[in-house]
Amino acid sequence: MLRNTEYPIDWSWHDSEGFKRLVNVSGTMTSLGGSIATPRVAAATAAAMPRFARIHEMQARASEVIARLTGAEAGFLTASASAGITLAVAGAITGMDPARAEALPTAPGARSAVAVQMGHLCEYGAAVSQAIALAGGSTRIVGQSTLAKDYQLAAALDETCAAALYVVSHHVVDYGMIPLETFAEIAHARGVPVIVDAASEYDLRGLLAKGADIVIYSGHKFLGGPTSGIVAGRKDLVRAGYLQNIGIGRGMKIGKESIAGAIAAMEQWLERDHEAVRAEENRALDLWQDAISGLPGITPVRIPDPTANPLERLQVWVDPAKAGASAAQFAEAFGRNDPPLIVRGHEVEHGYFQLDPCNLMQGQAELVRDALVKVLTDAESAARFDTRAALAAARNGGTQAYMDWLA
Ligand SMILES: *Cc1c(COP(=O)(O)O)cnc(C)c1O
Repeated sequence: MLRNTEYPIDWSWHDSEGFKRLVNVSGTMTSLGGSIATPRVAAATAAAMPRFARIHEMQARASEVIARLTGAEAGFLTASASAGITLAVAGAITGMDPARAEALPTAPGARSAVAVQMGHLCEYGAAVSQAIALAGGSTRIVGQSTLAKDYQLAAALDETCAAALYVVSHHVVDYGMIPLETFAEIAHARGVPVIVDAASEYDLRGLLAKGADIVIYSGHKFLGGPTSGIVAGRKDLVRAGYLQNIGIGRGMKIGKESIAGAIAAMEQWLERDHEAVRAEENRALDLWQDAISGLPGITPVRIPDPTANPLERLQVWVDPAKAGASAAQFAEAFGRNDPPLIVRGHEVEHGYFQLDPCNLMQGQAELVRDALVKVLTDAESAARFDTRAALAAARNGGTQAYMDWLA
């Protein structure tokens, strides 16, 4: 079984543990458990649990699989993509010197700046600049939030620069930034390696092909693996990143179970029928679009993922005057449906919410369709929620949830 949609809807685990049910149509979110693993990935994880194993041997196997998946010379696994950024930066700072690795993050030495275009200084649940700082690196900002120029990057890459970081993501501005090929050319002309954060990008080969020296992916997003980060690229930099496990990487380590699961997820991706998965996602989008198209003030539009990911979402525009409630109010109402539907609401201030079809189980496309019609035709209930509070929650809710925990 290679697809989530082959899982029947089954709430038995939530119910027996006393956890609230939820249907995720928002995408791969850390706060919702990343993604759902297929039985193959889950079985690989379970098989490793009751056994001892040599971690370096497992990581060497992971390196082979990462090389096959990405075309990289080598790779390793760590706790998350965020950890991968920190370890890759640390490796670029220390090289293969274990004493320097042990000196991080407080004594990184003179060559510890990391050049990043201002428009790439995003927050993906935490700030990318903090992932650099954890390695002892200092972020050297290039350009402005909407424009970075080639000569500005070149000027930033002096002898104190250990690496240049590039982010490919819907989280970053999509104009005015230096294209990756040019970015890599400028960096390489000055002997500076390029680290690419591509945590949720499906393009597993193209970024290395465009000149990246290291590319970092999440194992638990589109790949459907256990929580993990994949670091792929030039062998010397991969080895230097892996060396950090004697230092700052200790708290970011990945265990045998997640190494086994991530390997299975990568192998599965190589064998998966991507066309069939895409067709299922499109079927769900069609179903939803057809069901709500005629509703007053509701305009569902198919939109491609902002990066090159082969994925479409349904963007549901809401005209409050005609629909009876705002996009933010409906998003809130979906969260209170039975079962709660978590829609993609981080841009609700623009007057729409989105639906992501990539984490559906069998029968959920229909369940979501029914919930869409139910909630969108009951504007009176949705209108009870405070739009301003809902907009504030979309911005601050992620942090607030951590503060509210056990309060
Ligand atoms: C999700 C994401 C991360 C963080 O990935 P984790 O594996 O959850 O740590 C980093 N960068 C970008 C662009 C992301 O989308």
